Amino acid sequence: MLERLFGLFSKKQFSSIESSALHLQKESISHPALTIIRKLKRSGWDAFIVGGAVRDLLLNVKPKDFDIVTNASPHEIKSLFRRSRIIGRRFRIVHVYIGNETIEVSTFRKPNVSSSLDSYGRILRDNVFGSIEDDVKRRDLTINSLYYDPVSERILDYHDGISDLQKREIVVIGKTKVRLIEDPLRIVRIIRIAAKLDLIIPLKLKNVMRSSGILLENIPKARLSDDLLKMFVSGKSLQGFNYILELGLDKHIFPNLDLFSSEKKKGHTNLKKDGFIYSALKNLDFTVNNNRTISISFIFAVLFWEKISRLKMSYVEQGFSDYVGMQRAISETIQVINQHFYFQRKHIAGVRELCLLQGRFNKFLGKSPFSLIRHARFYSAFKLLELRVKLNEVKIETVVWWGKFHKCTDSEKVHMINVMRGKTGQRRSYKKRRGKKLSTTKIEKL
Ligand code: ATP
Ligand code: MG
Repeated sequence: MLERLFGLFSKKQFSSIESSALHLQKESISHPALTIIRKLKRSGWDAFIVGGAVRDLLLNVKPKDFDIVTNASPHEIKSLFRRSRIIGRRFRIVHVYIGNETIEVSTFRKPNVSSSLDSYGRILRDNVFGSIEDDVKRRDLTINSLYYDPVSERILDYHDGISDLQKREIVVIGKTKVRLIEDPLRIVRIIRIAAKLDLIIPLKLKNVMRSSGILLENIPKARLSDDLLKMFVSGKSLQGFNYILELGLDKHIFPNLDLFSSEKKKGHTNLKKDGFIYSALKNLDFTVNNNRTISISFIFAVLFWEKISRLKMSYVEQGFSDYVGMQRAISETIQVINQHFYFQRKHIAGVRELCLLQGRFNKFLGKSPFSLIRHARFYSAFKLLELRVKLNEVKIETVVWWGKFHKCTDSEKVHMINVMRGKTGQRRSYKKRRGKKLSTTKIEKL
């Protein structure tokens, strides 16, 4: 009787489920993560794998990283692992190095208190240690708040995350609007995770995301850029980017630029099927899913190309040369983007090079074609050239010519150049003029 009464008052806070009942593949867990958890537990601490790794393991997807949480403090964690380091200013976490893996181990944290919010309700500080019950409240999504103990092989579920995962639905913990105001980056995280795992974003949540989009203009640009980059290299960038357009977030992520307007389907917000950006992102996803190397600069060059190209044309109409017009268009566009988006210098340099190299595809004679195909960024520049056919900026014959030229033997290359010379009406062959600087011709003559 007493037990029943007690049960009435002490509402159960979580479910504890055997991981084998959920077919969690233990073999997919990184060995260093297991080693760390075993050692923490042997020393008397609680320790769990948490967040995206548990979610991904339950969906049979290989996790990107394994985050560990424990009730041990950073100093206590550090004292257990010889190769470890306490990092972070805002919140101190420990990096434990095992083999060539780095595993992040953090102490349970309390959610924000009102004194650590700014006037918009955005979190400024969240650096107070707490219990597992506190820790779970500060997590963003129900499917990201599962705690897995690989030693006892049980999963603690405080917010019905497993049921949401089975329904393949994204559910925000707590009051959606408040949680998105607290940290607007969660909007991008939802898009990134939904796209990566083919999960559903319910209509109601989409509406709140749409109306909160403006808050993205006010978050540190490094955080925003980091998460967007993760989305672009996730292998599901097309789906992710379509969500960004559907929810009207593009104008908040890249304000003042009027990007992508011509890329949207008439009357819709999705990308035009087989259009310039659609095809680029589809290729990008294919490349990532086949474990081939991708170029971050290429992604940005594609996203900003139409704007840069339009701006360049307006400079050329004002009397600037193609080259100077392009230089100015790139600098101006990047300067505006930089106000809201953090670009690494090497990526800016890459975008600049890829755009400038487009002009070199107009030069078929002399040494220029030879040096162009030896350029470190030739392949990405060629991919951009190929895509520009969709914008009617480049003829397919040009793409075919360069596709053939960069693959054929040296003597065939010389022959191709001589044929081009014939078409352009110049008499002397490439061989006779070798050594001298050769003239160039424009693409339109092909
Ligand atoms: P990914 O597969 O990209 O690693 P993830 O969900 O694991 O996805 P992480 O950035 O590794 O993302 O974060 C680990 C966990 O930390 C998340 O699952 C979530 O519980 C929590 N988390 C991360 N960022 C936030 C945030 N902005 N607000 C609330 N919780 C967050
Ligand atoms: Mg993760």
